[in-house]
This record gives sequence, C-alpha cells and structure tokens, in this order.
Amino acid sequence: MTKRTITIVGGGQSGLQLGCGLLSHGYDVHIVQNRTAEQIRSGKVLSSQCMFDAALQNERDLGLAFWDKTCPTVDSISFTVPAPDGSGNKAIDWNGLLDKPGQSVDQRVKIPAWMAEFERRGGRITIAEAGIAELESYARSSDLVVVAAGKGDVTKLFERDAARSQFDKPQRALALTYVTGMTPRPQHSAVCFNLIPTVGEYFVFPALTLSGPCEIMVFEGIPGGPMDCWGDVKTPAEHLTKSKWVLDTFLPWEAERCRNIALTDDNGILAGSFAPTVRKPVGHLPSGALVLGLADAVCLNDPITGQGSNNASKAAKVYMDAILAHGDKPFDAAFMQATFERYWDYAQYVVGWTNALLMPPPPHVLNLMGSAQAYPVLARRIANGFNNPLDFFPWFAVPEEADKYLQQLAA
Ligand SMILES: Cc1cc2nc3c(=O)[nH]c(=O)nc-3n(C[C@H](O)[C@H](O)[C@H](O)COP(=O)(O)OP(=O)(O)OC[C@H]3O[C@@H](n4cnc5c(N)ncnc54)[C@H](O)[C@@H]3O)c2cc1C
Repeated sequence: MTKRTITIVGGGQSGLQLGCGLLSHGYDVHIVQNRTAEQIRSGKVLSSQCMFDAALQNERDLGLAFWDKTCPTVDSISFTVPAPDGSGNKAIDWNGLLDKPGQSVDQRVKIPAWMAEFERRGGRITIAEAGIAELESYARSSDLVVVAAGKGDVTKLFERDAARSQFDKPQRALALTYVTGMTPRPQHSAVCFNLIPTVGEYFVFPALTLSGPCEIMVFEGIPGGPMDCWGDVKTPAEHLTKSKWVLDTFLPWEAERCRNIALTDDNGILAGSFAPTVRKPVGHLPSGALVLGLADAVCLNDPITGQGSNNASKAAKVYMDAILAHGDKPFDAAFMQATFERYWDYAQYVVGWTNALLMPPPPHVLNLMGSAQAYPVLARRIANGFNNPLDFFPWFAVPEEADKYLQQLAA
C-alpha cells in the first residue's frame, strides 16, 4: 500500500488522538492547529474534561495515557437534589461507585503534551487558522481531510442536521471554576452532581491542572434563571465570588466544602454557552472536494452529562479503525457517511440521554433517581452509565421499562 496522507484540522482530544494513532500505523499525518502549545498552556481553561474508563482505555491503547499515576481518580458519582422547601436539607442523596475510576486532565496540560508526542512520532503540525481556502489546499494535497475543530467557526461548513438536532439555542449558561483548597468528600472521590429544579445543575470533581491536583466546579444555569449569572462578572476574583454565591444560595453542603477555596490561576475560569448541534458529517468545499467532520465539529453536546471528551475519544477510535480498514480505497462520500454512521450508532444514545437531562425530568426519571437511594445496585448502574451510556437504554428512556426494572429491583 502506498503511504496515505491525512490532514486533520484541529488538534484537540479527537484530532490528536486520531493523529497519533494513525502515525503508529504508518500514515503520513499533518495537523493544523490554530494555537501553539504555549498559547494553549498559558490560556484559559477549555473544559472540565472528565473522562471515564472506556474512553481512557482508547488513550491507553495508543500509548497516550501519560497521567494515570499523577491524576487524582474520580471513583464514583453522587447525585443530590435539595429539598424544595428551602430548608437546606436534601430530598435525594445517593452515591454509586464506578467499576473503574475516571480522571480529568486539564486540556492545558494534555493538549501541549500530545502535540509534542505527535511530533515525536513523526507528525507535522502547522500553526494556522484553517478556513475554506486552506481546506481546499489540504484536500488537494491529502488523501483525506478530517475537520476536528470542535466549536471553531470553520465547522459551520457542515450543514446542521435538523432531524438529529433537538435544540437550536443554548440550553444552559455554563461556567467553570478551577480551585484548590476544597474539603474532600469523605470515603472516596466523586463527581458530585447536584440538580436544583428550575435553577440548574452544579457538579464538582477532582482533576489535574498545571499546578497539580485541583477541583473543577461546573455550573449549568437554566437560561434566564438565577444561575444564569455570569454576564456582569468582570474579574477572576468576581468569578470566584459568584461561584461561592451559587453554593451559599442553593447548596449549603457544597458551600461547606468551599470555605477555603482559591482559584488555581487567573485563567482557571470560563463562562459561555452554545447550542447542542448535530451536523451532517460530509462537508462540501466550493471546488467539489469533500472533508469529513469528527467529534464536536459535527456532534456537539451540552456538558451536562460530561460526555464530550469521552465522545471525542470514542469517535476518534471509530474513525481510526475505519481508515485502517479502508486500505487503499478512495475516501469518498460513501466512506465518510458510513464512518460517521458507525459512530452515530453509539453517539445517538449519548445525544438522546444528554438532551433528556436538559429538559425537566419526567415522572419515571424522577422515580428512578429517587429509588437509587434505596437500591445501591441502581445507584451503581446509573453511575456506570456515564462510562457506557448505552446501558441506560431502554430502561431510563421508556417509562414502562423503568417501571418494570423498578419492580424487578423491589422483588
Ligand atoms: C464547560 C465545559 C465543560 C465540559 N466538561 C466535560 C467533561 O467533564 N467531560 C467531557 O467528556 N467533556 C466535557 N466537555 C466537552 C469536551 O471538552 C469536548 O467535547 C472535547 O474537547 C471535544 O473534542 P474535539 O476534539 O471535538 O474538539 P476540541 O477539543 O475543542 O479541539 C478542537 C481544536 O481545534 C482547534 N481549532 C478550531 N478551529 C480551528 C481552525 N479553524 N483551524 C485550526 N484549528 C482550529 C481548537 O483550537 C482546538 O485545539 C466540556 C465542555 C465545556 C465547554
């Protein structure tokens, strides 16, 4: 087989994972990245990037898991709902252990390290903002162009898939706060997920950042509600104060853990919003050349279920396997569509579950989430669903199946 040339636009979770994997299989890989490693390292945080075992295993399989010994583990998922009477008590509160731990490595740590590893394996990186003209040029010089540009503007070249996109507006006002000094949860670590009905969600978990271990606070405010509160925040200190205000106001048990917190660094904050969007995976350039979208570029989810980086890892694996299996054949529209559909066979469930959590929970979901307090086996199953969301179907999605499952547990 002649050596095939692949250009990947965007060197994030999916682009670098795919690029490093293809290099190991003898492909000629070129990554186009719009920021240098140093700009990423010294810039703002990008994500909370909590990843679970199946996604981490893809990294391990490619020799990219550099932080297994240094990153604090995420051992479980906790779920808490405050009592509606404002008493400061908990209406629902349970914890489910993960079968295998998760971890979150700050992308300001991970991406520069992977860029160096990509070059060490013989890959070529160009620092440039790729637009349509650049894509045309890469399409001429490569056998395949993959666009893995996350939420970058260039992804608008992929048509929004109205049938697969439930929303056309942001569903949450998002914010991140990276801190040190938080009181650890007793026994073992967790993603502590708090759902405040009609207000939004707050979750927090341990991670590894530039300066070492930290905790990442994630705020998901329902638009127009009291947690949609970041617009007038001007400085990092104000961002930290606002983060504490949310906890003091709605989640006293989380506020208690935060008496001594400090920002990890002035860039350890983020606020923004975006509409969850699925796009058509084959991008048509003016010349008629085709490019293939990967991960967030064509399947962008709200972070409420913490699946984006997990999806990016799983998508990169599907795409790598498809490219390898395709051998010398041309990377035409049929190949591109079939490759995305293979990923969509999985991703549609993640999208469905994630979008469901953005809506007020229907009675059967409330019943399941409440019952997990009484049935540790259910708590554990929900927790491990974050590693494999396919396991939520059909019992989490279909009311009759939920009832049937709860009856089985009761018996
Ligand atoms: C607030 C928040 C919290 C999150 N929390 C989690 C979580 O806990 N767990 C989880 O799994 N996921 C989480 N995510 C999602 C996760 O970070 C993303 O889904 C994941 O990084 C997507 O990977 P990707 O490779 O598709 O894109 P990215 O990682 O975004 O990489 C895209 C790259 O392309 C570059 N780029 C963009 N445009 C161009 C261009 N024109 N030319 C060249 N380069 C370009 C960008 O600079 C970037 O380096 C969160 C996201 C947000 C916003």
